[in-house]
Amino acid sequence: MNLSIVIPVYNEEESLPHLHAALCTALAALPHAWEVIYVNDGSRDRSMQVLERLALEDPQHVCVVEFRRNFGQTTAIAAGIDHAQGEVIVFLDADLQNDPADIPMLLEKLQEGYDVVSGWRKSREDNALTRNLPSHIANWLISNVTGVHLHDYGCTLKAYRREVITGFRLYGEMHRFIPVYASAVGAKIYEMPVRHHARKFGKSKYGLERTIKVVLDLIAVQFLTRYAAKPIYLFGGGGFLMGILGALGMVFLLARKLLFEIDILTSPIFTLSVLLTLLGFQTILLGLIAELLVRTYHESQQKPTYTVRKVIRAGQEEKSAQAPLL
Ligand code: UDP
Ligand code: MG
Repeated sequence: MNLSIVIPVYNEEESLPHLHAALCTALAALPHAWEVIYVNDGSRDRSMQVLERLALEDPQHVCVVEFRRNFGQTTAIAAGIDHAQGEVIVFLDADLQNDPADIPMLLEKLQEGYDVVSGWRKSREDNALTRNLPSHIANWLISNVTGVHLHDYGCTLKAYRREVITGFRLYGEMHRFIPVYASAVGAKIYEMPVRHHARKFGKSKYGLERTIKVVLDLIAVQFLTRYAAKPIYLFGGGGFLMGILGALGMVFLLARKLLFEIDILTSPIFTLSVLLTLLGFQTILLGLIAELLVRTYHESQQKPTYTVRKVIRAGQEEKSAQAPLL
Protein backbone atom coordinates (compact mmCIF):
# COMPACT_ATOMS: atom_id res chain seq x y z
CA MET A 1 0.00 0.00 0.00
CA ASN A 2 1.27 3.46 -0.91
CA LEU A 3 0.32 6.37 1.24
CA SER A 4 -0.08 10.07 0.41
CA ILE A 5 -0.56 12.65 3.14
CA VAL A 6 -2.18 15.86 1.87
CA ILE A 7 -1.65 19.01 3.94
CA PRO A 8 -3.06 22.47 3.08
CA VAL A 9 -0.78 25.23 4.35
CA TYR A 10 -1.67 28.88 4.85
CA ASN A 11 0.63 30.93 7.07
CA GLU A 12 1.91 28.09 9.25
CA GLU A 13 5.68 28.80 9.26
CA GLU A 14 6.24 27.93 12.93
CA SER A 15 4.23 24.71 12.89
CA LEU A 16 5.71 23.16 9.74
CA PRO A 17 9.09 21.88 11.07
CA HIS A 18 7.38 20.33 14.13
CA LEU A 19 4.70 18.85 11.91
CA HIS A 20 7.14 17.24 9.51
CA ALA A 21 9.19 15.78 12.36
CA ALA A 22 6.05 14.35 13.95
CA LEU A 23 4.98 12.87 10.60
CA CYS A 24 8.34 11.18 10.08
CA THR A 25 8.20 9.67 13.58
CA ALA A 26 4.63 8.45 13.13
CA LEU A 27 5.20 6.90 9.69
CA ALA A 28 8.72 5.51 10.13
CA ALA A 29 7.43 2.38 11.84
CA LEU A 30 4.92 1.59 9.08
CA PRO A 31 5.73 -0.89 6.29
CA HIS A 32 4.20 1.39 3.62
CA ALA A 33 5.92 3.74 1.20
CA TRP A 34 4.71 7.25 1.86
CA GLU A 35 4.83 10.80 0.54
CA VAL A 36 3.55 14.05 1.95
CA ILE A 37 2.11 16.73 -0.29
CA TYR A 38 2.25 20.20 1.20
CA VAL A 39 0.03 22.58 -0.72
CA ASN A 40 1.12 26.14 0.01
CA ASP A 41 -2.10 28.10 -0.40
CA GLY A 42 -0.55 31.52 -1.06
CA SER A 43 0.96 31.98 2.41
CA ARG A 44 2.12 35.50 3.24
CA ASP A 45 4.66 34.43 5.85
CA ARG A 46 7.82 32.32 5.43
CA SER A 47 5.93 29.01 5.02
CA MET A 48 7.21 28.56 1.45
CA GLN A 49 10.85 28.95 2.49
CA VAL A 50 10.30 26.38 5.24
CA LEU A 51 8.67 23.99 2.77
CA GLU A 52 11.49 24.42 0.25
CA ARG A 53 13.96 23.55 2.99
CA LEU A 54 11.96 20.44 3.94
CA ALA A 55 11.84 19.42 0.27
CA LEU A 56 15.65 19.69 0.09
CA GLU A 57 16.24 17.83 3.36
CA ASP A 58 13.76 15.03 2.74
CA PRO A 59 13.36 14.75 -1.07
CA GLN A 60 12.24 11.13 -0.81
CA HIS A 61 9.05 12.04 1.05
CA VAL A 62 8.24 15.67 0.42
CA CYS A 63 6.30 17.12 -2.50
CA VAL A 64 5.43 20.83 -2.42
CA VAL A 65 2.72 22.41 -4.55
CA GLU A 66 2.77 26.21 -4.48
CA PHE A 67 -0.34 28.17 -5.44
CA ARG A 68 0.10 31.59 -7.05
CA ARG A 69 -2.33 33.08 -4.55
CA ASN A 70 -4.65 32.04 -1.71
CA PHE A 71 -7.43 29.83 -3.12
CA GLY A 72 -8.79 28.43 0.16
CA GLN A 73 -8.47 25.17 2.06
CA THR A 74 -10.84 23.16 -0.16
CA THR A 75 -8.98 24.07 -3.34
CA ALA A 76 -5.65 23.29 -1.65
CA ILE A 77 -6.98 19.86 -0.71
CA ALA A 78 -8.21 19.30 -4.29
CA ALA A 79 -4.75 20.17 -5.64
CA GLY A 80 -3.23 17.78 -3.09
CA ILE A 81 -5.46 14.96 -4.35
CA ASP A 82 -4.49 15.75 -7.96
CA HIS A 83 -0.79 15.46 -7.11
CA ALA A 84 -1.05 12.46 -4.78
CA GLN A 85 0.23 9.14 -6.09
CA GLY A 86 -0.76 6.83 -3.22
CA GLU A 87 -3.60 4.33 -3.14
CA VAL A 88 -4.56 5.74 0.22
CA ILE A 89 -4.85 9.47 0.85
CA VAL A 90 -4.84 10.97 4.34
CA PHE A 91 -5.72 14.62 5.01
CA LEU A 92 -4.19 16.55 7.85
CA ASP A 93 -4.13 20.17 9.03
CA ALA A 94 -0.77 21.94 9.07
CA ASP A 95 -1.31 23.61 12.45
CA LEU A 96 -0.54 20.57 14.66
CA GLN A 97 -4.14 20.48 15.92
CA ASN A 98 -4.45 17.01 14.38
CA ASP A 99 -1.90 14.48 15.59
CA PRO A 100 0.11 12.56 12.96
CA ALA A 101 0.52 9.80 15.55
CA ASP A 102 -3.13 8.86 14.88
CA ILE A 103 -2.48 7.98 11.23
CA PRO A 104 -1.41 4.33 11.80
CA MET A 105 -4.65 3.73 13.73
CA LEU A 106 -6.73 5.08 10.81
CA LEU A 107 -4.83 2.93 8.31
CA GLU A 108 -5.41 -0.19 10.36
CA LYS A 109 -9.15 0.41 10.23
CA LEU A 110 -8.97 1.09 6.49
CA GLN A 111 -7.33 -2.28 5.97
CA GLU A 112 -10.27 -3.96 7.64
CA GLY A 113 -12.16 -3.13 4.47
CA TYR A 114 -13.44 0.40 4.90
CA ASP A 115 -13.08 3.00 2.14
CA VAL A 116 -13.13 6.01 4.47
CA VAL A 117 -11.95 6.28 8.07
CA SER A 118 -13.08 9.59 9.47
CA GLY A 119 -11.45 11.32 12.44
CA TRP A 120 -13.67 12.63 15.22
CA ARG A 121 -12.32 15.33 17.57
CA LYS A 122 -14.13 13.91 20.57
CA SER A 123 -12.46 16.22 23.06
CA ARG A 124 -11.92 19.28 20.95
CA GLU A 125 -9.51 22.00 22.05
CA ASP A 126 -11.10 25.08 20.47
CA ASN A 127 -13.22 27.93 21.81
CA ALA A 128 -16.41 26.37 23.17
CA LEU A 129 -18.79 29.17 22.21
CA THR A 130 -17.51 30.44 18.86
CA ARG A 131 -16.19 27.16 17.42
CA ASN A 132 -17.44 24.03 19.17
CA LEU A 133 -21.10 25.01 19.55
CA PRO A 134 -21.68 26.08 15.91
CA SER A 135 -19.74 23.01 14.85
CA HIS A 136 -21.99 20.72 16.94
CA ILE A 137 -25.08 22.25 15.36
CA ALA A 138 -23.63 22.01 11.86
CA ASN A 139 -22.62 18.39 12.37
CA TRP A 140 -26.04 17.47 13.70
CA LEU A 141 -27.68 19.17 10.71
CA ILE A 142 -25.42 17.63 8.08
CA SER A 143 -25.69 14.20 9.66
CA ASN A 144 -29.50 14.25 9.72
CA VAL A 145 -30.04 15.88 6.35
CA THR A 146 -27.57 13.75 4.40
CA GLY A 147 -28.12 10.49 6.28
CA VAL A 148 -24.33 9.99 6.43
CA HIS A 149 -24.04 9.73 10.20
CA LEU A 150 -20.80 11.28 11.47
CA HIS A 151 -20.11 13.32 14.60
CA ASP A 152 -17.40 15.47 13.08
CA TYR A 153 -17.37 16.53 9.43
CA GLY A 154 -15.03 19.43 10.08
CA CYS A 155 -12.12 17.33 11.32
CA THR A 156 -9.55 17.30 8.53
CA LEU A 157 -7.83 14.13 9.72
CA LYS A 158 -9.47 11.45 7.58
CA ALA A 159 -8.15 8.54 5.50
CA TYR A 160 -9.58 7.63 2.10
CA ARG A 161 -9.05 4.98 -0.52
CA ARG A 162 -8.18 6.87 -3.68
CA GLU A 163 -11.07 5.42 -5.75
CA VAL A 164 -13.72 7.01 -3.57
CA ILE A 165 -12.39 10.57 -3.74
CA THR A 166 -11.50 10.83 -7.39
CA GLY A 167 -15.18 10.38 -8.32
CA PHE A 168 -16.11 14.04 -7.83
CA ARG A 169 -14.68 17.54 -7.99
CA LEU A 170 -14.54 19.93 -5.04
CA TYR A 171 -15.90 23.45 -5.24
CA GLY A 172 -16.20 26.36 -2.79
CA GLU A 173 -15.75 25.36 0.84
CA MET A 174 -16.92 21.82 0.40
CA HIS A 175 -14.04 19.78 1.85
CA ARG A 176 -16.12 18.95 4.92
CA PHE A 177 -18.62 17.22 2.65
CA ILE A 178 -16.09 14.82 1.13
CA PRO A 179 -17.51 11.93 3.25
CA VAL A 180 -20.99 12.72 1.88
CA TYR A 181 -19.71 12.66 -1.71
CA ALA A 182 -17.74 9.49 -0.97
CA SER A 183 -20.89 7.91 0.41
CA ALA A 184 -22.80 8.96 -2.73
CA VAL A 185 -20.12 7.20 -4.78
CA GLY A 186 -20.71 4.10 -2.62
CA ALA A 187 -17.95 4.19 0.03
CA LYS A 188 -18.04 2.28 3.33
CA ILE A 189 -17.35 4.75 6.13
CA TYR A 190 -16.06 4.28 9.68
CA GLU A 191 -15.66 7.03 12.26
CA MET A 192 -13.15 6.91 15.10
CA PRO A 193 -12.10 9.38 17.82
CA VAL A 194 -8.73 11.09 17.24
CA ARG A 195 -6.62 13.40 19.37
CA HIS A 196 -6.96 17.15 19.07
CA HIS A 197 -4.64 19.83 20.39
CA ALA A 198 -5.04 23.55 20.94
CA ARG A 199 -3.34 25.72 18.33
CA LYS A 200 0.20 26.53 19.50
CA PHE A 201 1.40 28.81 16.69
CA GLY A 202 -0.33 31.29 14.42
CA LYS A 203 -4.09 31.73 14.47
CA SER A 204 -7.21 30.16 12.99
CA LYS A 205 -8.21 31.39 9.54
CA TYR A 206 -11.92 31.05 10.14
CA GLY A 207 -14.65 32.69 12.21
CA LEU A 208 -18.39 32.42 12.74
CA GLU A 209 -19.26 33.48 9.17
CA ARG A 210 -18.32 29.98 8.07
CA THR A 211 -21.58 28.60 9.56
CA ILE A 212 -23.70 30.29 6.86
CA LYS A 213 -21.50 28.87 4.13
CA VAL A 214 -21.83 25.41 5.64
CA VAL A 215 -25.64 25.58 5.52
CA LEU A 216 -25.62 26.80 1.89
CA ASP A 217 -23.10 24.11 0.93
CA LEU A 218 -25.31 21.54 2.61
CA ILE A 219 -28.24 22.48 0.38
CA ALA A 220 -26.06 22.29 -2.73
CA VAL A 221 -24.50 18.96 -1.75
CA GLN A 222 -27.85 17.47 -0.91
CA PHE A 223 -29.26 18.53 -4.27
CA LEU A 224 -26.24 17.21 -6.17
CA THR A 225 -26.00 13.85 -4.45
CA ARG A 226 -29.75 13.14 -4.38
CA TYR A 227 -31.24 14.84 -7.40
CA ALA A 228 -28.42 15.56 -9.86
CA ALA A 229 -29.68 12.77 -12.11
CA LYS A 230 -33.41 13.37 -11.54
CA PRO A 231 -34.21 17.00 -10.63
CA ILE A 232 -37.83 16.69 -11.78
CA TYR A 233 -38.52 14.53 -8.70
CA LEU A 234 -37.62 17.44 -6.43
CA PHE A 235 -39.20 20.27 -8.43
CA GLY A 236 -42.09 18.15 -9.67
CA GLY A 237 -42.83 16.88 -6.16
CA GLY A 238 -42.96 20.41 -4.75
CA GLY A 239 -44.92 21.66 -7.76
CA PHE A 240 -47.51 18.92 -7.49
CA LEU A 241 -47.99 19.56 -3.79
CA MET A 242 -48.60 23.26 -4.39
CA GLY A 243 -50.94 22.52 -7.29
CA ILE A 244 -52.99 20.09 -5.23
CA LEU A 245 -53.23 22.53 -2.29
CA GLY A 246 -54.36 25.26 -4.72
CA ALA A 247 -57.00 22.96 -6.27
CA LEU A 248 -58.28 21.94 -2.81
CA GLY A 249 -58.65 25.63 -1.89
CA MET A 250 -60.69 26.25 -5.04
CA VAL A 251 -62.94 23.24 -4.40
CA PHE A 252 -63.50 24.45 -0.83
CA LEU A 253 -64.44 27.97 -2.05
CA LEU A 254 -66.75 26.60 -4.70
CA ALA A 255 -68.53 24.31 -2.26
CA ARG A 256 -68.95 27.18 0.19
CA LYS A 257 -70.41 29.37 -2.56
CA LEU A 258 -72.89 26.70 -3.66
CA LEU A 259 -73.98 25.67 -0.17
CA PHE A 260 -73.87 28.92 1.81
CA GLU A 261 -73.75 31.64 -0.89
CA ILE A 262 -70.37 32.97 0.46
CA ASP A 263 -68.49 35.12 -2.06
CA ILE A 264 -65.43 33.48 -3.64
CA LEU A 265 -63.50 36.52 -4.88
CA THR A 266 -63.28 38.38 -1.55
CA SER A 267 -61.82 35.44 0.40
CA PRO A 268 -58.04 35.43 1.11
CA ILE A 269 -58.16 31.71 0.35
CA PHE A 270 -58.88 32.63 -3.27
CA THR A 271 -55.66 34.64 -3.62
CA LEU A 272 -53.70 31.87 -1.91
CA SER A 273 -55.17 29.15 -4.13
CA VAL A 274 -54.43 31.05 -7.34
CA LEU A 275 -50.88 31.72 -6.13
CA LEU A 276 -50.29 28.07 -5.21
CA THR A 277 -51.65 26.79 -8.51
CA LEU A 278 -49.50 29.17 -10.55
CA LEU A 279 -46.39 28.51 -8.43
CA GLY A 280 -46.96 24.77 -8.68
CA PHE A 281 -47.17 24.98 -12.45
CA GLN A 282 -44.04 27.15 -12.60
CA THR A 283 -42.09 24.81 -10.34
CA ILE A 284 -42.89 21.80 -12.51
CA LEU A 285 -41.72 23.76 -15.57
CA LEU A 286 -38.52 24.62 -13.69
CA GLY A 287 -38.04 20.91 -13.05
CA LEU A 288 -38.36 20.20 -16.77
CA ILE A 289 -35.74 22.83 -17.58
CA ALA A 290 -33.50 21.30 -14.89
CA GLU A 291 -33.95 17.91 -16.60
CA LEU A 292 -32.68 19.41 -19.86
CA LEU A 293 -29.69 20.93 -18.05
CA VAL A 294 -28.87 17.64 -16.34
CA ARG A 295 -28.71 15.89 -19.68
CA THR A 296 -26.28 18.51 -20.98
CA TYR A 297 -24.30 18.29 -17.73
CA HIS A 298 -23.89 14.53 -17.86
CA GLU A 299 -23.56 14.05 -21.60
CA SER A 300 -21.27 16.94 -22.48
CA GLN A 301 -18.72 15.67 -19.96
CA GLN A 302 -19.46 11.97 -20.33
CA LYS A 303 -20.35 11.78 -16.66
CA PRO A 304 -21.74 8.39 -15.66
CA THR A 305 -24.93 8.09 -13.63
CA TYR A 306 -23.52 5.19 -11.56
CA THR A 307 -20.26 3.97 -10.03
CA VAL A 308 -18.78 0.51 -10.47
CA ARG A 309 -16.49 -1.19 -7.94
CA LYS A 310 -15.31 -3.95 -10.29
CA VAL A 311 -16.35 -5.97 -13.31
CA ILE A 312 -15.79 -9.71 -13.63
CA ARG A 313 -15.61 -10.81 -17.25
CA ALA A 314 -14.62 -14.27 -18.46
CA GLY A 315 -13.53 -15.12 -14.92
CA GLN A 316 -11.16 -12.13 -14.83
CA GLU A 317 -11.52 -9.16 -12.57
CA GLU A 318 -11.31 -5.81 -14.36
CA LYS A 319 -10.88 -2.53 -12.54
CA SER A 320 -13.12 -0.10 -14.35
CA ALA A 321 -11.68 3.34 -14.89
CA GLN A 322 -14.45 5.88 -14.65
CA ALA A 323 -15.09 9.53 -15.20
CA PRO A 324 -16.15 11.45 -12.08
CA LEU A 325 -19.78 11.03 -11.06
CA LEU A 326 -20.35 14.52 -9.66
N1 UDP B 1 -5.82 26.71 5.26
C1 UDP B 1 -5.51 26.86 3.91
N2 UDP B 1 -6.04 27.91 3.23
C2 UDP B 1 -6.88 28.82 3.82
C3 UDP B 1 -7.21 28.65 5.17
C4 UDP B 1 -6.67 27.58 5.86
O1 UDP B 1 -4.77 26.06 3.35
O2 UDP B 1 -7.33 29.75 3.13
C5 UDP B 1 -5.23 25.58 6.01
C6 UDP B 1 -4.52 25.96 7.28
O3 UDP B 1 -3.16 26.28 7.06
C7 UDP B 1 -4.67 24.70 8.12
C8 UDP B 1 -6.02 24.16 7.69
O4 UDP B 1 -6.30 24.76 6.42
O5 UDP B 1 -3.67 23.75 7.80
C9 UDP B 1 -7.11 24.47 8.70
O6 UDP B 1 -7.15 25.86 8.99
P1 UDP B 1 -7.40 26.39 10.47
O7 UDP B 1 -6.52 25.68 11.44
O8 UDP B 1 -7.29 27.88 10.41
O9 UDP B 1 -8.90 25.96 10.72
P2 UDP B 1 -9.53 25.50 12.12
O10 UDP B 1 -8.68 24.37 12.63
O11 UDP B 1 -9.46 26.70 13.00
O12 UDP B 1 -10.92 25.08 11.76
MG1 MG C 1 -6.76 24.36 13.01
